[in-house]
Amino acid sequence: MAIDLISRKAWGARSPRGSHTRLDSTKGVKVHYTGGRVDPRIVDEHDRCTALVRSIQNSHMDGNGWIDIGYSFVACPHKKVFEGRGLNRLPAANGSGLNRGHYAVLGLVGNAGLLEPPDGMLHAILDAIDHTRQNGRAGDEIKGHRDGYATDCPGGPLYAWVRRGAPRPDGGGNGAPEPPGAPPFPGRLLKYPPVTRGDDVRTWQAKMAEREWEIDVDGAYGPQSRDVCRRFQRQQEIDDDGVVGPVTWRRTWEAPQG
Ligand SMILES: [Zn+2]
Ligand SMILES: [Zn+2]
Repeated sequence: MAIDLISRKAWGARSPRGSHTRLDSTKGVKVHYTGGRVDPRIVDEHDRCTALVRSIQNSHMDGNGWIDIGYSFVACPHKKVFEGRGLNRLPAANGSGLNRGHYAVLGLVGNAGLLEPPDGMLHAILDAIDHTRQNGRAGDEIKGHRDGYATDCPGGPLYAWVRRGAPRPDGGGNGAPEPPGAPPFPGRLLKYPPVTRGDDVRTWQAKMAEREWEIDVDGAYGPQSRDVCRRFQRQQEIDDDGVVGPVTWRRTWEAPQG
């Protein structure tokens, strides 16, 4: 599966503060999580992934005093892979003495907020792993940070997945997975202002009307649609930003009728 790689330049990485140590080959990859809170809204908006990766680089350089972000690659929910230190460079995230053995791949989940890796993120982690094997002389090991180091990383859900042999999820994995019944997410946010118009808006409105919300099915997402969306989001106990992103879209079809 082709990797959707975001170069350092494309995500606005800072230049490393020193020169990287060459890494000829590894036994494989260690999987990581952030260890902090990850705002679940990254699932709805890829720009938030980019901002988060930049902040991780800042904390590694300014807080840890490292020359660069500590990870080799970072996987986001949108099946995209950020280039961290990249191939054939010693990572820093595995812990002292453990960096030569494995590339370090981060999944953008944490110990609060976004806990469960969406399918798109699992695909991205595997795309990064394939990339290290094909182009960076990585061996076939897939381990968690906690293997051989005292840490909770990569957290319960990701570690359980690693222990199951890191299977690739079914389906395309383009962003949040769609359950049976939900049409594919249109790939843009439905929001107001300004008014968003289109068949995707009409499809969402029609489903909301079917769910017995009072909403005009006119293909124009204005103040009325936004207000209905907000009330639906509150009912669902998700972030009530009044914007139909992948999560709200999915729940429109998936959530049991109250
Ligand atoms: Zn870790
Ligand atoms: Zn993303």
